[in-house]
Amino acid sequence: MTWLERLKTIEQAPVILQAPRPIDDPKQLRLARLTNKGLSLDEAKEVNQRLDLRTQGDDRILCYECHHLKGYVGLWRCGNWRKAGIAIREAGAGLGDMVNLFQRCNGFNQSIKKVEL
Ligand code: SF4
Repeated sequence: MTWLERLKTIEQAPVILQAPRPIDDPKQLRLARLTNKGLSLDEAKEVNQRLDLRTQGDDRILCYECHHLKGYVGLWRCGNWRKAGIAIREAGAGLGDMVNLFQRCNGFNQSIKKVEL
């Protein structure tokens, strides 16, 4: 028996292709986006709840909604620090707890796109 004949006799395991299940619940989607940024599930739930409680017409934002937010948990940095007015040099662009404050930010207002949460 040649290797080709032997190969033909090997039963192939069925390939099961599963497309990622789309998340259709907007709250779950937002949670997923926040946890993808590095927040724990509890932190993401808290941020999610705060965003839900923001009244319509309140134009303040969280940095989590901004395209310029860089970094990871605890080491958040602003990528638009000059326009945001939070630092005079890049070394001072760390945000710390400011990411959790609702604010009106010039850096955000001038950004081209808003992160969808
Ligand atoms: S530009 Fe403003 S809202 Fe955006 S990450 Fe910087 S400080 Fe936060």
